[in-house]
Amino acid sequence: MIERLCVIGVGLIGGSLARALRKAGAVREIVGASRNAAHLQQAVDLGVIDRFDTDPASAVRGADMVFVSVPLGAMRGVFDTIRGSLAPGAVVTDGGSAKAAVVRDLESACGEIPPWFVPGHPIAGTERSGVQASFAELYRGRRVILTPLEQTDAQAVARVRAMWEAAGAVVNEMDIRHHDEVLAATSHLPHILAFTLVESLARMSEKREIFEYAAGGFRDFTRIASSDPVMWRDICLANRDAILAMLEHFGKDLELLASAIQNRDEASILRIFSDAKTARDAFTDAGDTPQD
Ligand code: NAP
Repeated sequence: MIERLCVIGVGLIGGSLARALRKAGAVREIVGASRNAAHLQQAVDLGVIDRFDTDPASAVRGADMVFVSVPLGAMRGVFDTIRGSLAPGAVVTDGGSAKAAVVRDLESACGEIPPWFVPGHPIAGTERSGVQASFAELYRGRRVILTPLEQTDAQAVARVRAMWEAAGAVVNEMDIRHHDEVLAATSHLPHILAFTLVESLARMSEKREIFEYAAGGFRDFTRIASSDPVMWRDICLANRDAILAMLEHFGKDLELLASAIQNRDEASILRIFSDAKTARDAFTDAGDTPQD
Protein backbone atom coordinates (compact mmCIF):
# COMPACT_ATOMS: atom_id res chain seq x y z
CA MET A 1 0.00 0.00 0.00
CA ILE A 2 1.29 3.42 -0.99
CA GLU A 3 0.39 5.99 1.67
CA ARG A 4 0.83 9.08 -0.48
CA LEU A 5 1.57 8.99 -4.20
CA CYS A 6 2.70 12.19 -5.87
CA VAL A 7 2.20 12.24 -9.64
CA ILE A 8 4.11 15.00 -11.41
CA GLY A 9 2.53 15.37 -14.86
CA VAL A 10 -1.06 14.14 -14.55
CA GLY A 11 -1.63 13.34 -18.23
CA LEU A 12 -2.28 10.07 -20.07
CA ILE A 13 0.54 8.12 -18.40
CA GLY A 14 0.45 9.64 -14.89
CA GLY A 15 -3.35 9.89 -14.79
CA SER A 16 -3.78 6.27 -15.88
CA LEU A 17 -1.40 5.03 -13.18
CA ALA A 18 -3.26 7.07 -10.54
CA ARG A 19 -6.60 5.69 -11.72
CA ALA A 20 -5.34 2.09 -11.80
CA LEU A 21 -3.81 2.24 -8.32
CA ARG A 22 -6.92 3.84 -6.87
CA LYS A 23 -9.12 1.20 -8.49
CA ALA A 24 -6.87 -1.53 -7.08
CA GLY A 25 -7.06 0.01 -3.59
CA ALA A 26 -3.27 0.24 -3.61
CA VAL A 27 -2.94 3.90 -2.59
CA ARG A 28 -4.35 6.00 0.25
CA GLU A 29 -3.86 9.53 -1.13
CA ILE A 30 -2.83 10.94 -4.54
CA VAL A 31 -1.35 14.41 -4.95
CA GLY A 32 -0.91 15.83 -8.45
CA ALA A 33 1.49 18.47 -9.78
CA SER A 34 1.99 20.14 -13.16
CA ARG A 35 2.19 23.69 -14.56
CA ASN A 36 -1.47 24.38 -15.16
CA ALA A 37 -3.93 24.57 -12.23
CA ALA A 38 -6.93 24.17 -14.58
CA HIS A 39 -5.57 20.79 -15.81
CA LEU A 40 -5.02 19.70 -12.21
CA GLN A 41 -8.51 20.81 -11.15
CA GLN A 42 -9.87 18.71 -14.01
CA ALA A 43 -7.91 15.75 -12.61
CA VAL A 44 -9.54 16.34 -9.20
CA ASP A 45 -12.99 16.64 -10.81
CA LEU A 46 -12.44 13.35 -12.65
CA GLY A 47 -11.45 11.68 -9.35
CA VAL A 48 -7.92 10.93 -10.61
CA ILE A 49 -6.12 12.84 -7.83
CA ASP A 50 -7.25 14.01 -4.38
CA ARG A 51 -5.50 17.39 -4.38
CA PHE A 52 -2.79 19.29 -6.21
CA ASP A 53 -0.03 21.84 -6.06
CA THR A 54 1.48 23.65 -9.04
CA ASP A 55 4.82 23.64 -7.22
CA PRO A 56 6.29 20.11 -7.52
CA ALA A 57 8.53 20.78 -4.48
CA SER A 58 5.46 21.29 -2.26
CA ALA A 59 3.60 18.43 -3.93
CA VAL A 60 6.27 15.80 -3.11
CA ARG A 61 6.45 16.69 0.60
CA GLY A 62 5.40 13.68 2.67
CA ALA A 63 4.95 11.40 -0.36
CA ASP A 64 6.38 7.88 -0.03
CA MET A 65 6.18 7.32 -3.83
CA VAL A 66 6.76 9.91 -6.55
CA PHE A 67 5.96 9.20 -10.21
CA VAL A 68 7.36 11.70 -12.73
CA SER A 69 5.43 11.56 -16.03
CA VAL A 70 6.21 14.82 -17.79
CA PRO A 71 7.63 15.11 -21.34
CA LEU A 72 11.34 14.17 -21.44
CA GLY A 73 12.42 17.80 -21.99
CA ALA A 74 10.80 18.77 -18.68
CA MET A 75 12.42 16.03 -16.53
CA ARG A 76 15.57 18.00 -15.60
CA GLY A 77 13.54 20.98 -14.33
CA VAL A 78 11.34 18.71 -12.23
CA PHE A 79 14.35 16.92 -10.68
CA ASP A 80 15.97 20.29 -9.87
CA THR A 81 12.78 21.40 -8.14
CA ILE A 82 11.99 18.29 -6.08
CA ARG A 83 15.40 16.98 -4.99
CA GLY A 84 15.55 19.00 -1.75
CA SER A 85 11.93 18.34 -0.70
CA LEU A 86 11.62 14.55 -0.79
CA ALA A 87 10.56 12.75 2.39
CA PRO A 88 13.15 10.41 3.96
CA GLY A 89 12.71 6.96 2.42
CA ALA A 90 10.70 8.26 -0.55
CA VAL A 91 11.08 6.36 -3.81
CA VAL A 92 11.06 8.28 -7.10
CA THR A 93 10.38 6.67 -10.47
CA ASP A 94 9.41 7.90 -13.91
CA GLY A 95 7.61 6.86 -17.09
CA GLY A 96 9.85 8.55 -19.68
CA SER A 97 10.16 6.83 -23.07
CA ALA A 98 13.99 7.00 -23.20
CA LYS A 99 16.03 6.07 -20.13
CA ALA A 100 19.66 7.18 -20.49
CA ALA A 101 18.61 10.82 -20.92
CA VAL A 102 16.42 10.73 -17.79
CA VAL A 103 19.26 9.30 -15.72
CA ARG A 104 21.65 11.96 -17.10
CA ASP A 105 19.15 14.67 -16.15
CA LEU A 106 18.81 13.28 -12.63
CA GLU A 107 22.58 13.04 -12.23
CA SER A 108 22.99 16.67 -13.35
CA ALA A 109 20.31 17.78 -10.90
CA CYS A 110 21.60 15.77 -7.90
CA GLY A 111 25.35 15.58 -8.63
CA GLU A 112 25.08 11.77 -8.47
CA ILE A 113 22.62 9.04 -9.33
CA PRO A 114 20.72 8.55 -6.07
CA PRO A 115 19.77 5.04 -4.88
CA TRP A 116 16.13 6.05 -4.42
CA PHE A 117 15.50 6.58 -8.13
CA VAL A 118 14.16 3.70 -10.24
CA PRO A 119 14.02 4.49 -13.98
CA GLY A 120 10.94 2.99 -15.64
CA HIS A 121 8.94 2.93 -18.85
CA PRO A 122 5.42 1.57 -19.34
CA ILE A 123 5.11 0.04 -22.81
CA ALA A 124 1.54 1.21 -23.09
CA GLY A 125 -0.16 4.32 -24.31
CA THR A 126 -2.37 5.79 -26.98
CA GLU A 127 -2.05 8.67 -29.44
CA ARG A 128 -4.10 10.84 -27.07
CA SER A 129 -2.78 13.01 -24.23
CA GLY A 130 -3.93 14.84 -21.13
CA VAL A 131 -5.76 13.59 -18.05
CA GLN A 132 -9.07 13.31 -19.95
CA ALA A 133 -7.43 10.58 -22.08
CA SER A 134 -6.32 8.55 -19.03
CA PHE A 135 -8.02 5.30 -18.04
CA ALA A 136 -7.50 2.71 -15.30
CA GLU A 137 -7.05 -0.26 -17.65
CA LEU A 138 -4.21 1.22 -19.72
CA TYR A 139 -1.56 -0.96 -18.07
CA ARG A 140 -3.59 -4.17 -17.68
CA GLY A 141 -1.46 -7.00 -19.12
CA ARG A 142 1.05 -4.51 -20.59
CA ARG A 143 4.76 -4.57 -20.02
CA VAL A 144 6.62 -2.10 -17.85
CA ILE A 145 10.41 -2.02 -18.19
CA LEU A 146 12.48 -0.99 -15.18
CA THR A 147 16.14 -0.13 -15.82
CA PRO A 148 17.74 -0.01 -12.35
CA LEU A 149 21.43 0.88 -12.07
CA GLU A 150 24.11 -0.71 -9.94
CA GLN A 151 23.56 1.83 -7.18
CA THR A 152 19.75 1.59 -7.22
CA ASP A 153 18.36 0.38 -3.91
CA ALA A 154 16.84 -3.12 -4.28
CA GLN A 155 14.00 -2.20 -1.90
CA ALA A 156 13.14 0.80 -4.08
CA VAL A 157 13.02 -1.45 -7.16
CA ALA A 158 10.76 -3.90 -5.30
CA ARG A 159 8.37 -1.11 -4.32
CA VAL A 160 8.15 0.23 -7.87
CA ARG A 161 7.64 -3.28 -9.22
CA ALA A 162 4.81 -3.87 -6.71
CA MET A 163 3.21 -0.56 -7.71
CA TRP A 164 3.11 -1.48 -11.41
CA GLU A 165 1.89 -4.99 -10.66
CA ALA A 166 -0.95 -3.49 -8.63
CA ALA A 167 -1.81 -1.46 -11.75
CA GLY A 168 -2.06 -4.74 -13.69
CA ALA A 169 1.27 -4.57 -15.55
CA VAL A 170 3.89 -7.24 -16.18
CA VAL A 171 7.28 -5.93 -15.04
CA ASN A 172 10.64 -6.69 -16.70
CA GLU A 173 14.10 -5.38 -15.93
CA MET A 174 16.55 -4.33 -18.63
CA ASP A 175 19.87 -2.61 -19.08
CA ILE A 176 19.39 1.09 -19.93
CA ARG A 177 21.33 1.03 -23.19
CA HIS A 178 19.51 -2.08 -24.38
CA HIS A 179 16.17 -0.45 -23.50
CA ASP A 180 16.96 2.65 -25.54
CA GLU A 181 18.07 0.60 -28.56
CA VAL A 182 15.06 -1.73 -28.46
CA LEU A 183 12.60 1.15 -28.08
CA ALA A 184 14.27 3.14 -30.87
CA ALA A 185 13.49 0.18 -33.15
CA THR A 186 10.03 -0.83 -31.97
CA SER A 187 8.46 2.47 -30.99
CA HIS A 188 10.48 5.54 -31.92
CA LEU A 189 11.18 4.57 -35.56
CA PRO A 190 7.51 3.71 -36.35
CA HIS A 191 6.34 7.02 -34.85
CA ILE A 192 8.94 8.96 -36.85
CA LEU A 193 7.89 7.15 -40.05
CA ALA A 194 4.20 7.87 -39.42
CA PHE A 195 4.83 11.56 -38.68
CA THR A 196 7.07 11.92 -41.72
CA LEU A 197 4.70 10.12 -44.08
CA VAL A 198 1.72 12.28 -43.11
CA GLU A 199 3.74 15.50 -43.16
CA SER A 200 5.23 14.63 -46.53
CA LEU A 201 1.81 13.86 -48.06
CA ALA A 202 0.25 16.94 -46.45
CA ARG A 203 2.80 19.14 -48.23
CA MET A 204 1.96 17.75 -51.66
CA SER A 205 -0.22 20.03 -53.73
CA GLU A 206 -2.87 17.35 -54.33
CA LYS A 207 -3.17 16.69 -50.59
CA ARG A 208 -6.97 17.22 -50.47
CA GLU A 209 -7.42 14.47 -53.00
CA ILE A 210 -4.83 12.20 -51.34
CA PHE A 211 -6.55 12.36 -47.97
CA GLU A 212 -10.00 12.01 -49.60
CA TYR A 213 -8.98 8.67 -51.09
CA ALA A 214 -7.04 7.49 -48.05
CA ALA A 215 -8.45 4.16 -46.93
CA GLY A 216 -8.00 1.80 -44.00
CA GLY A 217 -4.33 1.17 -44.70
CA PHE A 218 -3.47 4.84 -44.40
CA ARG A 219 -5.55 5.15 -41.22
CA ASP A 220 -3.91 2.05 -39.64
CA PHE A 221 -0.40 3.10 -40.55
CA THR A 222 -0.74 6.73 -39.48
CA ARG A 223 -2.82 6.53 -36.27
CA ILE A 224 0.27 7.29 -34.21
CA ALA A 225 0.97 10.48 -36.20
CA SER A 226 -1.80 12.00 -34.04
CA SER A 227 0.50 11.65 -30.99
CA ASP A 228 1.72 14.69 -29.11
CA PRO A 229 4.42 16.51 -31.15
CA VAL A 230 6.16 17.90 -28.03
CA MET A 231 6.51 14.46 -26.50
CA TRP A 232 7.94 13.06 -29.75
CA ARG A 233 10.31 15.97 -30.32
CA ASP A 234 11.68 15.30 -26.84
CA ILE A 235 12.01 11.55 -27.48
CA CYS A 236 13.96 12.23 -30.72
CA LEU A 237 16.40 14.48 -28.88
CA ALA A 238 16.68 12.27 -25.78
CA ASN A 239 17.32 9.03 -27.68
CA ARG A 240 19.19 10.69 -30.55
CA ASP A 241 22.00 8.18 -31.12
CA ALA A 242 19.88 5.03 -31.07
CA ILE A 243 17.25 6.69 -33.28
CA LEU A 244 19.84 7.87 -35.81
CA ALA A 245 21.29 4.36 -35.97
CA MET A 246 17.82 2.92 -36.65
CA LEU A 247 17.07 5.57 -39.30
CA GLU A 248 20.32 4.74 -41.08
CA HIS A 249 19.55 1.02 -40.97
CA PHE A 250 15.99 1.56 -42.20
CA GLY A 251 17.11 4.04 -44.88
CA LYS A 252 19.38 1.36 -46.37
CA ASP A 253 16.51 -1.14 -46.46
CA LEU A 254 14.25 1.42 -48.13
CA GLU A 255 16.94 2.02 -50.77
CA LEU A 256 17.16 -1.75 -51.38
CA LEU A 257 13.42 -1.91 -51.96
CA ALA A 258 13.51 1.14 -54.22
CA SER A 259 16.22 -0.40 -56.36
CA ALA A 260 14.33 -3.71 -56.52
CA ILE A 261 11.30 -1.80 -57.83
CA GLN A 262 13.50 0.20 -60.19
CA ASN A 263 14.97 -3.04 -61.59
CA ARG A 264 11.62 -4.82 -61.76
CA ASP A 265 13.22 -7.40 -59.45
CA GLU A 266 10.06 -9.41 -58.73
CA ALA A 267 11.83 -12.01 -56.58
CA SER A 268 13.37 -9.45 -54.23
CA ILE A 269 10.14 -7.51 -53.83
CA LEU A 270 8.22 -10.69 -53.10
CA ARG A 271 10.85 -11.91 -50.63
CA ILE A 272 10.81 -8.61 -48.66
CA PHE A 273 7.00 -8.53 -48.48
CA SER A 274 6.71 -12.26 -47.65
CA ASP A 275 9.32 -12.05 -44.88
CA ALA A 276 7.50 -9.02 -43.47
CA LYS A 277 4.13 -10.77 -43.56
CA THR A 278 5.52 -13.87 -41.84
CA ALA A 279 7.12 -11.75 -39.08
CA ARG A 280 4.03 -9.58 -38.59
CA ASP A 281 1.65 -12.59 -38.53
CA ALA A 282 3.81 -14.36 -35.95
CA PHE A 283 3.83 -11.21 -33.81
CA THR A 284 0.05 -10.69 -33.91
CA ASP A 285 -0.69 -14.42 -33.49
CA ALA A 286 1.30 -14.25 -30.26
CA GLY A 287 -1.32 -11.68 -29.16
CA ASP A 288 1.37 -9.28 -28.08
CA THR A 289 0.27 -5.96 -29.58
CA PRO A 290 1.13 -3.20 -27.11
CA GLN A 291 0.16 0.33 -28.09
CA ASP A 292 2.39 3.27 -27.53
P1 NAP B 1 0.66 14.05 -21.47
O1 NAP B 1 -0.65 13.33 -21.52
O2 NAP B 1 0.84 15.25 -22.33
O3 NAP B 1 0.96 14.42 -19.97
C1 NAP B 1 2.12 15.16 -19.60
C2 NAP B 1 1.78 15.97 -18.39
O4 NAP B 1 2.96 16.66 -17.98
C3 NAP B 1 0.69 17.00 -18.65
O5 NAP B 1 -0.34 16.71 -17.74
C4 NAP B 1 1.36 18.36 -18.36
O6 NAP B 1 0.44 19.14 -17.57
C5 NAP B 1 2.60 17.96 -17.54
N1 NAP B 1 3.77 18.80 -17.77
C6 NAP B 1 4.30 19.17 -18.97
N2 NAP B 1 5.40 19.92 -18.78
C7 NAP B 1 5.56 20.02 -17.43
C8 NAP B 1 6.52 20.68 -16.60
N3 NAP B 1 7.52 21.39 -17.14
N4 NAP B 1 6.39 20.57 -15.26
C9 NAP B 1 5.38 19.88 -14.71
N5 NAP B 1 4.42 19.24 -15.46
C10 NAP B 1 4.53 19.33 -16.80
O7 NAP B 1 1.87 13.05 -21.84
P2 NAP B 1 1.98 11.50 -21.54
O8 NAP B 1 1.59 10.77 -22.79
O9 NAP B 1 1.30 11.18 -20.26
O10 NAP B 1 3.56 11.34 -21.43
C11 NAP B 1 4.24 11.56 -20.21
C12 NAP B 1 5.57 10.81 -20.20
O11 NAP B 1 5.33 9.44 -20.42
C13 NAP B 1 6.55 11.26 -21.27
O12 NAP B 1 7.85 11.33 -20.71
C14 NAP B 1 6.49 10.16 -22.32
O13 NAP B 1 7.76 10.00 -22.95
C15 NAP B 1 6.13 8.96 -21.48
N6 NAP B 1 5.37 7.90 -22.18
C16 NAP B 1 4.34 8.21 -23.02
C17 NAP B 1 3.64 7.20 -23.66
C18 NAP B 1 2.48 7.49 -24.58
O14 NAP B 1 2.11 6.64 -25.39
N7 NAP B 1 1.86 8.65 -24.50
C19 NAP B 1 3.98 5.85 -23.42
C20 NAP B 1 5.02 5.57 -22.53
C21 NAP B 1 5.70 6.60 -21.92
P3 NAP B 1 0.44 20.75 -17.62
O15 NAP B 1 0.15 21.12 -19.04
O16 NAP B 1 -0.65 21.11 -16.66
O17 NAP B 1 1.79 21.16 -17.14
